Amino acid sequence: MYAHERFSATREDARYLLQTISVLGATGSVGVNVLNVIARHPERYKVFALTGFSQLEHLKKQCLLHRPDYAVVPTPEAVKVLQQQLIDAGSLTQVVGGESGLKFVASHRDVDTVVAAIVGAAGLNATLAAVESGKKILLANKEALVMSGALFMQAVRTSGAVLLPIDSEHNAIFQCLPSHSRQGLTSAGVRRIMLTGSGGPFRQTPMDQLQDVTPDQACAHPKWSMGRKISVDSATLMNKGLELIEACWLFDAKPSQVEVVIHPQSVIHSLVDYVDGSMLAQLGNPDMRTPISHALAWPQRIDSGVEPLDLFKVARLNFEVPDETRFPCLALARQVANAGGTAPALLNAANEVAVQAFLANQIGFTQIADCIRHVLDNEPVGQVRDLYGVMEADANARRWGKRWLRENHL
Ligand code: NAD
Ligand code: MG
Repeated sequence: MYAHERFSATREDARYLLQTISVLGATGSVGVNVLNVIARHPERYKVFALTGFSQLEHLKKQCLLHRPDYAVVPTPEAVKVLQQQLIDAGSLTQVVGGESGLKFVASHRDVDTVVAAIVGAAGLNATLAAVESGKKILLANKEALVMSGALFMQAVRTSGAVLLPIDSEHNAIFQCLPSHSRQGLTSAGVRRIMLTGSGGPFRQTPMDQLQDVTPDQACAHPKWSMGRKISVDSATLMNKGLELIEACWLFDAKPSQVEVVIHPQSVIHSLVDYVDGSMLAQLGNPDMRTPISHALAWPQRIDSGVEPLDLFKVARLNFEVPDETRFPCLALARQVANAGGTAPALLNAANEVAVQAFLANQIGFTQIADCIRHVLDNEPVGQVRDLYGVMEADANARRWGKRWLRENHL
């Protein structure tokens, strides 16, 4: 059984029913785009739960607008505050808290679809709860899959969950693959998967200036508007590295079958290269509502609110080889993709520690890669046997990363 085959298991019977949806990470950039699409199709989608971590005023407004059965916030205090505010506003939404609240709304029997859009390792347990409950999962939270790869995909197979990528590149690849690639990529005639990336805000910045760039400059992405963590990942090209690992798991590809192509216009969202010389690409304006709409409605199509692509305006498409000297994070990610085991979990955790420190102005941009390298040089790679092992690797990597921060800067 192959990952892509899993996608092809259409649920004909569910096509015309109202889809009930839990949005994990509703207040974030992806979450907001999901709710924008849902609001365009009230006859198709009903919000079951919304979750938020920090912007509770925003979550309150979303609850009043989308009237979910449940809202999830991190702490008992936040539960009290939001619950009272919602009661005062005449809302019937029930507020629950913590990790157990996230798992509850991810696995509830009344839920058809779970949007996994929490950022980072914090989304792992709730996303896995959705997978284990056999839901249709719209996956944005790539870190969860990168960390737990084999366990995650095994849980998809066991539970019969339907896993649809909404990371734009993987959604593009999914659209370009044949719907019945039963025997894997090779027998489907696929030579390579080509992941495109804009190159980020520092694509043309000389090496000697990279050490001085600020978090705000790193977050000013030229083509996509996103949360701060993924924006920094895009600037270091770690995002492309995480996406390489994500693609390997989703499409059962070897790292050598995935190539990264810098494409500054961000119009081609990725490509599949076939042995007969055909190369299929998915194009569109860079707007997350396209992959979100595709996955929500799949195998149908719905209006996403995205303007049609004007090819005459685009006029030109450029492609470049990624510069792994200026952006060593991509090479580090390829290295851990080849190493396998707990290596991707170590990379992911180290990256989260380093990016957080960079965003807090504690380290420079180029030190993100130094910190990750230090962690990978010190923490041995183990086999992934169970979730406990993944969590342990994550914790050990964070310890090495924080020690490096202390020794070098804090
Ligand atoms: P964001 O920072 O805008 O939003 C993150 C969401 O997660 C928020 O709702 C926040 O409240 C919640 N959250 C943060 N920490 C949490 C915690 N500890 N516990 C529970 N909830 C927590 O991030 P984003 O840009 O929307 O990205 C979300 C995920 O989607 C990331 O994994 C990212 O890599 C992926 N993704 C994002 C985009 C994009 O366009 N933004 C594109 C592709 C993939
Ligand atoms: Mg992406």
